[in-house]
Amino acid sequence: MDYVELHRDSLVVDTHCDTLKCLLPVFTRPRDSMWGDRSKVGMGVRSSMGHVDVPRLLEGGVTCQVFAVSGERSRTPSHSLRTALEMIDRFFRECDANRGAVVPVTTHGEIVQAKRAGKVAAMLSIEGADVLEGSVDVLRVFHRLGVRMVGLVHSIRNELADGVADRRTGGGLSELGAQAVGELNRLGMIVDVSHLNDEGFWDVLELSRDPVIASHSNARAVCDHPRNMTDDMIRALAEKGGVMGMNFAPGFVHPSRATLGGVVDHIDYIVGLVGPGHVGLGSDFDGIPSTPVGLEDVTRIPAITEELVRRGYGEDDVRKILGGNHLRLIRAVCG
Ligand SMILES: [Zn+2]
Repeated sequence: MDYVELHRDSLVVDTHCDTLKCLLPVFTRPRDSMWGDRSKVGMGVRSSMGHVDVPRLLEGGVTCQVFAVSGERSRTPSHSLRTALEMIDRFFRECDANRGAVVPVTTHGEIVQAKRAGKVAAMLSIEGADVLEGSVDVLRVFHRLGVRMVGLVHSIRNELADGVADRRTGGGLSELGAQAVGELNRLGMIVDVSHLNDEGFWDVLELSRDPVIASHSNARAVCDHPRNMTDDMIRALAEKGGVMGMNFAPGFVHPSRATLGGVVDHIDYIVGLVGPGHVGLGSDFDGIPSTPVGLEDVTRIPAITEELVRRGYGEDDVRKILGGNHLRLIRAVCG
């Protein structure tokens, strides 16, 4: 099977994009508009702005795209919960407007069905539980709304945890953060450790009954950045059955020159450390200021398959990395 056929036949999962931010006027003020204000255009129209829309997802052969809801208080000081609800509203309106091509999903089975129907499966995540405004009870409502991955923090400290921006204080999870992990486990929502500081990561690993995800984080040994994970963290995540999605943010890929090959270098490194069962894709498209050479937008995802095949990965391993690992985790936690 050549790489084009292998890519088309695989279940491809990307566990992080910030496209919903490009669709909401509150986020598309001048300082946030580097990906283009698409609030009037919508996701169904092929755009030259940003990295992700429905036509480009289909061209890139993405089976399941996870859309982040992000209402961090640093950007929306007084109404992060309302902003999150508006983003979820926009998500469902986009799914409705594009119902011939996109279907909202919450389970492994629904993702497989979407693939059979030739549609893009769209899943909701929360990036930064600031949106709970201090209430773990609100998680149950987000679960009913279809959210299936939750990051406790978006780099800046909140009621639940310290983020990577709080390395000086080095705090772990608060009591509320620990309660949130318990409630996420009970509800069947995946805990996302991306953006947590290292102390918070270790607390989550100890507290969570279920395997966890690092939806968009790379290997710190390959590129030394606090948003990437140390070897010990990667081993512990893998031992628990977790998966990490490779982030395309140039600064997380390579200190000076980020390329498609550089992203695959992270995959190689993680496979060398813990085998092929714990790595996947988590592009961060529409949330990163620039892209690696060769990965300019979501239509370029097949180039990763080409590069994996070129480096000698077998078909089974390529399928795992493209989405099989993420799907195993989704099945284990969400059903
Ligand atoms: Zn992020």
